[in-house]
Amino acid sequence: MPEFTFFKPAGVPKAELPEIQLTVEELEAVRLRDLEALEYEECAQKMSVSRPTFHRIIVIARKKIAEALVNGSALRVTGGNFSLAKHQLACRACGHHWEDIMCCRRTRCPICQANDWHKVDI
Ligand SMILES: [Zn+2]
Repeated sequence: MPEFTFFKPAGVPKAELPEIQLTVEELEAVRLRDLEALEYEECAQKMSVSRPTFHRIIVIARKKIAEALVNGSALRVTGGNFSLAKHQLACRACGHHWEDIMCCRRTRCPICQANDWHKVDI
């Protein structure tokens, strides 16, 4: 997950700015290609996508960044396909409590491996 996720022109209140959303994948594409200067093939491999897909991602990413810089929009990096929010979970089988970034059918208790758990409100 990137360290910085929100950028905006100085001196303009956030509420008055149009916001452009850049996905983590798009930011990663720019980081690999433009910052680390890797070859297209290598970038595509690192992101587990085909070269044409990588090219499509980076074209969109650069256009969004250019739009934000030129037109003065806010730029927000969003989670895209994943979320890093933590959930407090409790196992019904053994009573274990734990924090997990996963919260879906595949989530299992780290102690007894049961998938009979519930969310605990913090
Ligand atoms: Zn358990």
